[in-house]
Amino acid sequence: MLTAVVGINWGDEGKGRMVDLLSEGYDIICRYQGGNNAGHTVINDKGKFILNLLPSGILRENTVNVMGAGMVIDLEHLAGELATLTSQGVEITPANLKISDKAFICMPYHKAQDILEEERLADKKYGSTKRGIAPVYGDKYMKKGLRLGDLLHRETLEEKLRDILEWKNITLEGYNSTSSAELPALMAWLEKFGGGLLPHITDTTEFLLTAANSAKKIMFEAQLGALRDIDFGIYPYTTSSQTLAAYATIGAGIPGKKLDRVVGVMKAYSSCVGEGPFTAEIFGAEAEALREAGGEYGAATGRPRRVGGFDIPASRYGIEMQGADELALTKLDVLSYMDKIPVCVAYEVDGVKTRGFPCGDNLAKAKPVYEYLTGFKVDISKCRSAAELPPEALNYIRYIEDAMDCPIKYVSVGAGREDYFKLG
Ligand code: GDP
Ligand code: MG
Repeated sequence: MLTAVVGINWGDEGKGRMVDLLSEGYDIICRYQGGNNAGHTVINDKGKFILNLLPSGILRENTVNVMGAGMVIDLEHLAGELATLTSQGVEITPANLKISDKAFICMPYHKAQDILEEERLADKKYGSTKRGIAPVYGDKYMKKGLRLGDLLHRETLEEKLRDILEWKNITLEGYNSTSSAELPALMAWLEKFGGGLLPHITDTTEFLLTAANSAKKIMFEAQLGALRDIDFGIYPYTTSSQTLAAYATIGAGIPGKKLDRVVGVMKAYSSCVGEGPFTAEIFGAEAEALREAGGEYGAATGRPRRVGGFDIPASRYGIEMQGADELALTKLDVLSYMDKIPVCVAYEVDGVKTRGFPCGDNLAKAKPVYEYLTGFKVDISKCRSAAELPPEALNYIRYIEDAMDCPIKYVSVGAGREDYFKLG
């Protein structure tokens, strides 16, 4: 059984929380793209955990976690994340954490380049998280990257890095900055933060193929949502990798295998971190109230997230791009304070109403068409079945489900593992 759990919107839909819930009974959980530029928050009986790089399955015993070839890994950040989780009582060994030898290393100069470039862009910036993600993916495609597997070959590592630095310093010097990338300091960094990872680095393709061929249950966990996909998202306000389910087996390392099931996670309202078009955005006191109610501050950066009502055009597009078979609707409890619930039912582009999701300049021009549903005004966080919901809440769910043409299978009403119910 190969299942992907992916985001339908701009990210922060609660994917980590759904993976933590749905991964019961799964043998393996894989991350297949991205780096430490976003975060999952998982709350379960062991406590509260913030995961930037590690797959959410790390919080389950008897689950093997794979960091796939499609990832970019900042070794220093990973070492820190491993130390924090270990201090929280999570046991991490080469048996339950396997890192692809083909994943790329996000180097300190990638972070430096990211920061220099955002400074150069000034008010034209893209809202980078400044974690080096775009530069490291850029270098990957320029074929100037170092991969985790290179750490296993100390004898050639230094020469590879020296060759890369000749090229990289041409770029860094162009920023008139003092930050050049020095070989000895970088070799020391690789040793300091990479040394402890060596037992985890392996050919995860072979591991996953063997598992898939012996009918193990494998789950693929996305970072960020459909609208941040480099190709099909709101380019250039996207991330630098493929967030879509179609990429899950590729990024994990088994491109020849087909997914059996795609679960799309979408939030009962919208949020978006950073710059870029966000048609359904609401402002002022209304936005402040929703941000507070939903705790919409970035798990990786603490940045306040932009918020809006549920966005029908964007979510329909996200579902199509993900090929979702079923949906999980999260954070419905957050809406309980509202007298009337805003829903962005369509966009208006050049005076024409559409439910399609426009691209590029047309998206920048789009204006939201809002409608309002009656609020439910009671705490639903203890509801454990649709029957326990107030009729207005069930009406809201069914309204969205109808608009999505895709069944909602799970409704989440709280951050804890058990705070959800299934819909028939
Ligand atoms: P991810 O990046 O998609 O995994 O999502 P994040 O972890 O960045 O953001 C989701 C946030 O909402 C986390 O703090 C979760 O603990 C929390 N959360 C998830 N589901 C629910 C829910 O149904 N209700 C409430 N109130 N919080 C939730
Ligand atoms: Mg997140």
